[in-house]
Amino acid sequence: MQSGITPRDKDYNQWYLDVIQAAKLADHSPVKGCMVIRPNGYALWENIQQILDSMFKDTGHVNAYFPLLIPESFMKKEAEHVEGFAPECAVVTHGGGSRLEEPLYIRPTSETIIWSMYKKWISSHRDLPILINQWANVVRWEMRTRLFLRTTEFLWQEGHTAHATEEEAEAETRQMLQVYRRLAEDYLAIPVIEGLKSEKEKFAGAVRTYCIEAMMQDHRALQAGTSHNLGQNFAKAFDVTFQDESGQRQLVWATSWGVSTRLIGAVIMTHSDDRGLVLPPRIAATKVVVVPIPGKKTDPSAINSEAQKLSQELELGRSVIVDDRPNLSPGRKYHHWENRGIPIRIELGPRDLENNQAVIVRRDTGEKSFVPRAELKAKVIDVLEDIQKNLFERAKAMREEFTFNVDDQASFIEKLNQPGGFLNAHWCGETECELRIQNETKATIRCIPLDAKEEKGKCPFCGKDSRQRVVFSKAY
Ligand SMILES: [Zn+2]
Repeated sequence: MQSGITPRDKDYNQWYLDVIQAAKLADHSPVKGCMVIRPNGYALWENIQQILDSMFKDTGHVNAYFPLLIPESFMKKEAEHVEGFAPECAVVTHGGGSRLEEPLYIRPTSETIIWSMYKKWISSHRDLPILINQWANVVRWEMRTRLFLRTTEFLWQEGHTAHATEEEAEAETRQMLQVYRRLAEDYLAIPVIEGLKSEKEKFAGAVRTYCIEAMMQDHRALQAGTSHNLGQNFAKAFDVTFQDESGQRQLVWATSWGVSTRLIGAVIMTHSDDRGLVLPPRIAATKVVVVPIPGKKTDPSAINSEAQKLSQELELGRSVIVDDRPNLSPGRKYHHWENRGIPIRIELGPRDLENNQAVIVRRDTGEKSFVPRAELKAKVIDVLEDIQKNLFERAKAMREEFTFNVDDQASFIEKLNQPGGFLNAHWCGETECELRIQNETKATIRCIPLDAKEEKGKCPFCGKDSRQRVVFSKAY
């Protein structure tokens, strides 16, 4: 059956958009660059939110909400921050029919408004730490947009913490990077590399930015989450101090960290195939669809009620649905659910009823198996786990296949262009050289891996000494 989805090897970008459309995840909005998240897409975000929110609370964080609008003067208080963000900000100049005395920025991120409040809330070491997270939308005026991956408005969470010591802030930054790694690997089945951003790539206003980086099926990199150690930059800008135990006034240490609806784009691009969306079971709202197949001679209502009974036996609650729509062939139903990435399809026909069995079909491999009814519940649990594992292993194998050590400019450029992937290359550590590499090749430093070994070498572009390899790639 024609899937209506452009094959990946024909046009990867069109494939991505076709998968989103076929699975009804999102739609383009009347405002260019914005996105409408449809119920199937929003269900994925809700699951990501639940998983993360629980991990945040387990690590001592609480949720709060700060306003969408930020006074212009706040944005301008931290020099690097405003320089980094001002060009992509939307600014409100009118309200209530008249020109505002001070323009208001629609938040591109909330450090400034939050630190203006922390000034009010922090005076003693007893007020620290503050471990706040916010679930919100932000706006960054993007010129080139792509559903989920880069949109003018997107949904995210942003954590903003305040600490008494530098060590505590650094430990928090690293802890949240681990939370993001667990989300990506254990739930989204996306293997990631943990690393540090270069000076050029770090967050505007941060001392250091840690990140997790993933490889998509077209071998490009995608930044999946970031965690920033902000040092005392925002405490200085907003004059936030506390009295320590010895009565001295000290500046507060800060972190911020975030992941966004971009993760849904990462899930699509990592796992899906030419038949549509493929979802890791742990974030799929519907994990199993049961399709009753009425025989020519049998009464459809009998097999439909048997399918309902079977779905109850699985004891998976709302994660199981029965597709007993009349006047739709089984083939069309299979196609419909394949497009939507439902991990398991169970087929139930008259012969299966006779033999007291059902057919399980896996979305990831297409593999079919006949399972006795008595074993079905246990088998479904096993297969869901196995799909989750297989998707992760498959993505990891692909990343390994397309990760190359390169030592000279010619092989750097050759591998980058065909087949593309992650290039482990030496780098001199200079921003000027990094910029030159980006201009000449379109590759950026994705990260300086945390587990990189010390290794003497030469930067392939300028020939200067290097102490370790970093990861270069073309990126989303
Ligand atoms: Zn260099």
